[in-house]
Amino acid sequence: VRRTTAPFALVALVAVAALVVIAACDAPRNTGNAAVDAPRPRAEWAVVVHGGAGVIPGNEYEAVEQQYLDSLTAAVELGKSILESGGTSLDAVERVITLLEDDPLFNAGKGAVFNQEGRHELDASIMSGRDMSCGAVAGVTTVKNPIALAREVMEASKHVLFAGDGAERFADTVGAERVSPDYYWTERRREQWRRRQENPDEPDFLPRGTAGVAALDRDGNLAAGTSTGGLTGKAFGRIGDSPIVGAGTYADNRTCAVSGTGKGEEFIRYAVAHRISALMEYRDLTLERAAAEVVHDVLQPGDGGIIAVDRDGNIAMVFNTHGMFRGAADSGGRFEVAIWE
Ligand code: ASP
Repeated sequence: VRRTTAPFALVALVAVAALVVIAACDAPRNTGNAAVDAPRPRAEWAVVVHGGAGVIPGNEYEAVEQQYLDSLTAAVELGKSILESGGTSLDAVERVITLLEDDPLFNAGKGAVFNQEGRHELDASIMSGRDMSCGAVAGVTTVKNPIALAREVMEASKHVLFAGDGAERFADTVGAERVSPDYYWTERRREQWRRRQENPDEPDFLPRGTAGVAALDRDGNLAAGTSTGGLTGKAFGRIGDSPIVGAGTYADNRTCAVSGTGKGEEFIRYAVAHRISALMEYRDLTLERAAAEVVHDVLQPGDGGIIAVDRDGNIAMVFNTHGMFRGAADSGGRFEVAIWE
């Protein structure tokens, strides 16, 4: 009898010990630090703005630094007031970009850069992350606010992108505000163009000033938009990333809203804005990590930067140039504008 009881006792003991271990593993663990497990507070709204990348300290541009900071502050204030009072992210994107298009400091609308022929060709796009609707125009020459026309493409046409003459004719049909081509002209941009003509091989360090906005509204809808005159001295007919959905602009409520600025060819090649969203969707990266991976590991130093906001209101402003005009605000009280690293 003794010989058979001992193994049973041993088995029973091991079984009880195993149950104790399993129960301990299943029990809620107290980390001793409530903040570790607490969900991140979700921002009710958030807005982030860029006014272009590619600036370097020490050039003529420092003289107007305070003006840029003031304009960025006004842009972020406008986005904040729209979103705070329950406005939509799409309205915030369109109205803030319109403000920057009307501001001659920025390379969008008035103040757009000159192309090789000394003329202006403007590009813009806008996207809603709620239903993936989007609209864009490329190479427009008489439209005062290309971002507003991009929104008309999105809402009043069944298409996504109009270019050149087609975009101008579409502008006629929706009654978009028109200007004469010399409306965009500023002395500063003309001087940059002249320098570019004289030194075509010089690295492109000139301040660019493209305008972009990404926003999250109180309904949880994301939107993004971008508007630009392109690159100084660009070839006639050249179209950059700004009107290309997925390259310069992207928004998807499941992930984030993004607007880029920099060398458009690289942003198109690597589908930069969509790539950030895809890294969040497919690899479950945070916005911050996804944006850093694309800007620092996919793009080359000096190519440009992005601004973005995710569905939780987290904000990213990442660039690989010496500076990027930028600003952000959210419902948690954040408010900032900056230029340099
Ligand atoms: N990405 C724009 C373009 O290539 C320029 C810029 O962002 O400064 O047209």
